[in-house]
Amino acid sequence: AWQKELADVVGEEGLLLGDEQREKLSKDYYWYSPVLEPLLRDKRADGIVVPESEEQVAEVLAFAYRNSIPVTTRGAGTGNYGQAVPLEGGIVLDMSRLDAVLEVTDGYAKVQAGVRLGALEKRLREEGKELRIYPSTYMKATVGGFVCGGSGGIGSITWGNLWDGNVLEAVVLTMEEKPKRLVVSGSELLAYIHNYGTNGVLTELTIPVSPKVEWRQTVVQFDDIESACLFSHSVAMDDSIRKRLVTPVEWPIPSYFKPIVKRLEEGASACLLETEDGTEEKLAEHAAAHGGRIGYTIPPSQYHRTVGLSDFAWNHTTLWALKTDPTLTYLQAGFHPAEFMSQIKQIKDRFGDEVLIHLEFMRSAGVVVPASLPIVRYTAHERLYEIIAFFRSIGVGINDPHTWTLEMGGRGQLEAMLAAKRANDPRALLNPGKLSVPVGEAAARGNER
Ligand code: FAD
Repeated sequence: AWQKELADVVGEEGLLLGDEQREKLSKDYYWYSPVLEPLLRDKRADGIVVPESEEQVAEVLAFAYRNSIPVTTRGAGTGNYGQAVPLEGGIVLDMSRLDAVLEVTDGYAKVQAGVRLGALEKRLREEGKELRIYPSTYMKATVGGFVCGGSGGIGSITWGNLWDGNVLEAVVLTMEEKPKRLVVSGSELLAYIHNYGTNGVLTELTIPVSPKVEWRQTVVQFDDIESACLFSHSVAMDDSIRKRLVTPVEWPIPSYFKPIVKRLEEGASACLLETEDGTEEKLAEHAAAHGGRIGYTIPPSQYHRTVGLSDFAWNHTTLWALKTDPTLTYLQAGFHPAEFMSQIKQIKDRFGDEVLIHLEFMRSAGVVVPASLPIVRYTAHERLYEIIAFFRSIGVGINDPHTWTLEMGGRGQLEAMLAAKRANDPRALLNPGKLSVPVGEAAARGNER
């Protein structure tokens, strides 16, 4: 019955009730996880609302508040942990029509939350600027979805992750009888970065931009993953090389990269790079020092015009692995900035090909760190958590990608997020189940560790 009333708020075209639409727009990439897949498969919204203005978002929230209907916000649905899956049905609030670029200066871009990062990057580059950081899903992913569900990506080796000053301001609507419009900046943003939309709906974002660079993409290949990692580290640490991507992957991961596999050396571990045009000689020196061979390169003229190396980096690496072998899955790990080689050795000694190394060098709070999305062969839930326990036992941090709760996934500032949840969402209607699920309830859903 409420569906009918909602049509008065957003119009017939702003309300999608068909089975297929509800199914499609209630899902994200949760199926990356063999743990989450069976648990989230059947979840779907009762209706998808696609507002076309901030005023409509506020009206939808007020309506949902009055009627105690859960609201789960959606960007493009490319998140990996079921962040955008409505656990308790209700409304999925699809932000895709809030896609206006409001202001671009040399220093920042102010946009509505539903703007796709790919479209924004294209526009910025046409104007001699570019994004600082973006996920490998940039063609689809929205600015709001990245801020509320992502962490870092291409560019993070220079600019850090979302918590490193890469969000300047957000407009947040609260879930109340009369939704408030908060303009949030500085340390207050910590409550909203990677919040899964649990404590507010972000309608506008201001993010920093930087001058455009001509990027060259290069694959460097090695006999073993150790050399690939050492080379990657030396490039990551070399401040004279401007860069956006430094991604070492262990063979056979490159064999999963179907669109470019013919251009890659059989049997070689590889490093995927985006560095400034003109850094070829420096790269060659680093490669020579580590027994690396320069391979497939994509000149700047083809940047973003063809399949690029970032289409195989970050969580795209996992996507190609899964396409090749559905029994593979992944973890999100943080290796020690200095001890990572010994940690990698311990993991390889212990697990062999059950764990394949994939690092993403990035900056975090200014320090170059080897973040990692290792590929893991999935055999059983218990075994997965044995592997996680071993990583932790040798000092490798894990952000568990096999849980949908913020408490257990371990990103972001929980205390700040909880305080904002209490203030902004008194009826706990925003994306229920993702923040503050009592442990017992989570366990009953089979999502315990
Ligand atoms: P969605 O998945 O739609 O939403 C993400 C979360 O944010 C959900 O909880 C949703 O409820 C909430 N949300 C969305 N919009 C709003 C809003 N306006 N207000 C409040 N809450 C909102 N992530 C990275 O960080 N780096 C990567 O490099 C990366 N690579 C990936 C590669 C692949 C192949 C895949 C499948 C995923 C990858 N991800 C990566 C995860 C994901 O793509 C990113 O987090 C992406 O930025 C999410 O954007 P989205 O628009 O699809 O958000």
